[in-house]
Amino acid sequence: MVAIMKTKPAYGAELVEIDVPKPKEGEVLIKVLATSICGTDLHIYEWNEWAQTRIKPPQIMGHEVAGEVIEVGPGVEDIQVGDYISAETHIVCGKCYQCKTGNYHVCQNTKIFGVDSDGVFAEYAIVPAQNAWKNPKNIPPEYATLQEPLGNAVDTVLAEPVTGKTVLITGAGPLGLLGITVAKAAGASLVIVSEPSDFRRELAKKVGADVVINPFEEDVVKEVRDLTDGNGVDVFLEFSGAPKALEQGLQAVTPAGRVSLLGLFPRNVSLDFNNLIIFKSLTVYGITGRHLWQTWYTVSKLLQSGKLNLDPIITHKYKGFDKFEEAFELMRAGKTGKVVFFPHK
Ligand code: NAD
Ligand code: ZN
Repeated sequence: MVAIMKTKPAYGAELVEIDVPKPKEGEVLIKVLATSICGTDLHIYEWNEWAQTRIKPPQIMGHEVAGEVIEVGPGVEDIQVGDYISAETHIVCGKCYQCKTGNYHVCQNTKIFGVDSDGVFAEYAIVPAQNAWKNPKNIPPEYATLQEPLGNAVDTVLAEPVTGKTVLITGAGPLGLLGITVAKAAGASLVIVSEPSDFRRELAKKVGADVVINPFEEDVVKEVRDLTDGNGVDVFLEFSGAPKALEQGLQAVTPAGRVSLLGLFPRNVSLDFNNLIIFKSLTVYGITGRHLWQTWYTVSKLLQSGKLNLDPIITHKYKGFDKFEEAFELMRAGKTGKVVFFPHK
């Protein structure tokens, strides 16, 4: 079979021909129907500082997936051949304090497949059975593969209800775009998006943003206040990882409002905590991964409702992996929403 493999500790990856793996105890083998690129895959491709300390080549890349189970390993009981699955990528221990108290998403011993072990950018892939999520057959693979990042977006947007609320989203990369459609589907009354890239502001509009702002040319805080009777937004969702966006969002959110932070900052951020958070009586959520398995149920039901507008977010589809380098370079240049591969041409 063909797979995208990180073969060397250096920039890039290679398309390799390898044997179809055999599922071991507790594992299933899937025929990969669709797989999508995540920002983490890009970091591995670029071989950034984080990747250098975490990834041990040679390794198959990728973790967002939809596929059909074609073989189950010994001891697998609840997944059968023919099941149509996606996968939670965090492999949790079930034994630590967080797992025992139901907080699997912050398990102390989390391993990530496609990061700490072989991934799914391949024609066939191994998935730990405990991480498999059964999909209804009527969800197309290109949507089913997006459930893992959709889970990040759902936890960010829906840390508290948004029905009837005004929302500011900073950053319309793949995750911010998913956040926009989740916020609209969940009944937000106004979704304002701040994003410097022209291409991504256009995408944000297509996905359903009510207003888009270029933070490099316009005054985000003033624009938000003008759109909210001078009050500021009820909810601020940070999807960019830009320190400036964090500060603007905290200024633009109304006192006693809610904030969810998903974007990862490249360095320590310095803030006026007294005036931006404490005296404003804000509720601030740090968001990581997805709640197991509550978030998967929410994502799956949102998908089945037909209320998510995912087509404009999937900007690039590739049959096979032949053009994988083009896909990664487009992503690096910020010229994509989500990129989906269909490994079997
Ligand atoms: P991305 O880099 O593709 O998107 C970020 C977007 O923010 C870009 O479109 C960029 O133009 C925009 N941006 C830059 N400066 C801005 C500013 N000042 N104001 C507003 N927007 C600005 O990343 P992504 O894949 O969409 O992921 C979003 C963030 O979420 C990243 O920081 C990523 O590391 C993080 N992330 C966190 C988790 C988690 O579990 N916490 C999971 C996945 C991703
Ligand atoms: Zn644990």
